[in-house]
Amino acid sequence: MNFDNIVDKAKVTFEDVYKKAETVVSVQKQKIDVYSLEAKLSKSYEILGKLCYDAIRNDEPFDAESVKPVTDDIAEKIQLIENTKEEILKAKNKKLCTKCGAQIEKNGVFCSKCGAKL
Ligand SMILES: [Zn+2]
Repeated sequence: MNFDNIVDKAKVTFEDVYKKAETVVSVQKQKIDVYSLEAKLSKSYEILGKLCYDAIRNDEPFDAESVKPVTDDIAEKIQLIENTKEEILKAKNKKLCTKCGAQIEKNGVFCSKCGAKL
């Protein structure tokens, strides 16, 4: 038995495990980012709702232009959430079923949930 081969194999295995652990940590971080962004998004929707409610309640015309900073902020957060979710899928080597939205293996041909061909 060649000792160098054993060492090389052990090294490769260790690097694989290390890489996997690193991916798990980064995916966990990204999931926390998504939760945090979704909470902030809810707050932005709340602010927009309050501005809209106040205008209606006070019988004032609702000026869409005046709330543009809030709607821009909402659009930005939605985009960030989508991007982060995409990065999570990529890191997990998965994709979404185009029919039901389930997470499936990136190179899967059929959806394991609804059976749709992809
Ligand atoms: Zn599906």
